[in-house]
Amino acid sequence: MATRLHSLPMADHTAPAPAASGVTPRGRFAPSPTGPLHFGSLVSALASYLDARSRGAQWLVRIEDLDQPRARPGAAAGILRTLQAFGLDWDQSVRYQSKEQERYAAALARMIRAGHAYACGCSRSEIARTARRGIEGLIYPGTCRQGVAAGRAPRAFRLRVTAGEIAFQDAVFGALRQDVAAEIGDFVLKRADGIFAYQLAVVLDDADQSISEVVRGADLLDSTARQMLLQRLLGLPAPAYLHVPVAVNAAGAKLSKTTLARPLDPLRAGATLLAALRFLGQCPPPELAGASATEILCWGIAHWDRGAIPRRRAIAVQSDVG
Ligand code: GLU
Repeated sequence: MATRLHSLPMADHTAPAPAASGVTPRGRFAPSPTGPLHFGSLVSALASYLDARSRGAQWLVRIEDLDQPRARPGAAAGILRTLQAFGLDWDQSVRYQSKEQERYAAALARMIRAGHAYACGCSRSEIARTARRGIEGLIYPGTCRQGVAAGRAPRAFRLRVTAGEIAFQDAVFGALRQDVAAEIGDFVLKRADGIFAYQLAVVLDDADQSISEVVRGADLLDSTARQMLLQRLLGLPAPAYLHVPVAVNAAGAKLSKTTLARPLDPLRAGATLLAALRFLGQCPPPELAGASATEILCWGIAHWDRGAIPRRRAIAVQSDVG
């Protein structure tokens, strides 16, 4: 996991960012439907749910299903069923990113016209020949910045990243900054296979859905500066960010389909929610053992304590958790 985000002094880790006046605070959970919900994704869902509900905010669910080759048939429906079985009820209808592609295309076209995005004709192996390594793969050497060479077809679209640091405040990790140009480079907005990149879609949807608080796993801390850069260039408001530790297995790998994380068992919803609360540094009382999911969520909403969330990117959990 990359650790090149730089901390700034004078962080205030716990105070919720004030919502802009007149704006209804709103959180969201945005799973990718690559498999069933497991303990790691429940932790993110629960954190964003409690953070929203504890301040009377709405909580939305958005299925991030743009990467169809990685999506698993039936996974989205399974995730929604599991959220319901765990008492995590959302507001409004669920948004599916696969149905929103016209908006992403329009935003990309605007960025190209404004000179913020450009077509790239380079193949992966061409880039690999000259690029240096950044914190997340290779830093694009800028070959197509002035235009795709004659005789080459545009394959992907990239952001023309400007030099300089993006500074932001995370409610758990404090003040952070990242030089996207130096550490990431001109990142992809639309992939060579025609799929809109997560970074573009997430920024457009968070703004379109008026999300004021983004609460998610710390594996996305390194994406936040990229998203803020896009918000700036697109003239969109930046939500407040709160990243929670990611659940990893004993070998340090994020719980996921590939690490064979156990799907959540709705029959054990209460015990699993208690484990997720404890993972998030919250201290549910022993009397809640055996309580229903609804009772545990009620306690969680009343006692949600941002300041107790461990300031760690990853925490190992037992393989049988959940
Ligand atoms: N879809 C992303 C994931 O499942 C999360 C996106 C986000 O919360 O910003 O990892």
